[in-house]
Amino acid sequence: MRPVLIIGGGVSGLSAAYYLRQAGVAPSIVEKQPRLGGVISTSVVDGCVIEGGPDSFLSAKPAAMDLIREVGLESEVIGSNDHLRVTYIKRDGRLVPLPDGLMMMVPTKIWPVAVSSLLGWGTKVRMGLEYFRQPAVTAGADRSVAEFVADHYGQEAVDYLAEPLLSGVYGGSPAELSVASVLPRFVEMEAKYGSLTRGVLAAPKPTAGSGTLFRTMKRGLQQLTDAVERAAAPEFLRGEVETIEPDGETWRVRVNGEWIGAARVIVACPAHAAAGVVAGIDGELARALGGIVYSSSMTVALGYRRDKLGHSQNGFGFLIPKRERKRMIACTWVGTKFSHRVPDTHALLRCFLGGSEDAAILSESDEAVTAIVRGELHEIMGVTAEPEFARISRWPRSMAQYTVGHAKRLAIIEGRTRVHKGLELIGNAYTGIGIPDCIKMGKDAARRVTIAA
Ligand SMILES: Cc1cc2nc3c(=O)[nH]c(=O)nc-3n(C[C@H](O)[C@H](O)[C@H](O)COP(=O)(O)OP(=O)(O)OC[C@H]3O[C@@H](n4cnc5c(N)ncnc54)[C@H](O)[C@@H]3O)c2cc1C
Repeated sequence: MRPVLIIGGGVSGLSAAYYLRQAGVAPSIVEKQPRLGGVISTSVVDGCVIEGGPDSFLSAKPAAMDLIREVGLESEVIGSNDHLRVTYIKRDGRLVPLPDGLMMMVPTKIWPVAVSSLLGWGTKVRMGLEYFRQPAVTAGADRSVAEFVADHYGQEAVDYLAEPLLSGVYGGSPAELSVASVLPRFVEMEAKYGSLTRGVLAAPKPTAGSGTLFRTMKRGLQQLTDAVERAAAPEFLRGEVETIEPDGETWRVRVNGEWIGAARVIVACPAHAAAGVVAGIDGELARALGGIVYSSSMTVALGYRRDKLGHSQNGFGFLIPKRERKRMIACTWVGTKFSHRVPDTHALLRCFLGGSEDAAILSESDEAVTAIVRGELHEIMGVTAEPEFARISRWPRSMAQYTVGHAKRLAIIEGRTRVHKGLELIGNAYTGIGIPDCIKMGKDAARRVTIAA
């Protein structure tokens, strides 16, 4: 009988394993892939550090840095090169910089927005008038991000700010995503101040020297998951969990047709897989889990000789709004965004495709995808050079979408999970999709099962 069996060895499951080991409990992980780490996957080609999945984490949430310190990797952490940060948005075929002082779509400085060619005068005037908006008397129901942003700043702010920014992060559509779950701080500001601009201006400013917006590991994020795996030293059982069922006070888990006993089970696979795993014990829980939509994504990293690229990469990269999109959603100029990632001799362009509206791109061949991306890079950046290498990563149904009504679904999932003693559900489907959120869920679940043991 295993003390704790974790289903899924992404960063959520690995973090749970690490904190269990810290508490003196030997963790076991069942993972269907041959390696642990989930969507965190780094490779190195010609000295370029290539992230197949995520490339960094938000500094503001402490769980990732806490774990990094605990596994002794603090000296390997680097920040984004924020002094070089310019994000471009494609507008009418050209790359236009996002105006300075924008917090997502909320303007905090008048002049940069006034002179920007990203938005028309109607939106600019509306943004100015939003400053005087007062709180509504009654709190409203959950809305989509698109409705919320359009209500404050108009449709152009949805099309050229909210949509590209959220597609870049979630691979999702603002017409579907829940504002309460995706932008909860803005909903609080709206309730308190009416105006989001006044809310952001009144919020405490980050203290000077508090660091960069994003952080990552010098040699890629897999440095972290590899170190966590070493420290957690889990028993790694390769296989796909089919179902679980209670066995008296404990559990049994069927993996590739064989039953494994465990005192506690932490389900750390995507919600659509978790739905199948728990379907035999709780139909309501399985339905709520199955109701969480996932988007598929793909990254395409193209490496060039720097002297052949013919582009200065003067910023972090660009986002392509749906109105201007063919297949590409975003492109990161990796060597500008992070130091230590690209040798001086090279340039690395990392492009995102897929998302909730183009899962079909994942079925295209590597050759077809590379040709699509090269065509768009030519059109947008003028790049005609032959890449030295291409690395493509496909992540089917890997990014949870917190669509309208997410909080209600979550309440059902939490309520039903509590009924099953010794069962925990963690992962990016629940209280945050970012790496720090997943680490925190893993840590909290490890604490709960340890206390309950
Ligand atoms: C392309 C991309 C870019 C991203 N960029 C960022 C970023 O820059 N910053 C950030 O903070 N976040 C980013 N994210 C989000 C973040 O990386 C993920 O939310 C997080 O890594 C998910 O971790 P997880 O362990 O919950 O899930 P996963 O990494 O998906 O791991 C789940 C594991 O469960 C396994 N599994 C599934 N079913 C079963 C089964 N039945 N039996 C056994 N094993 C099973 C899977 O094989 C998988 O390994 C990005 C995500 C993607 C896909």
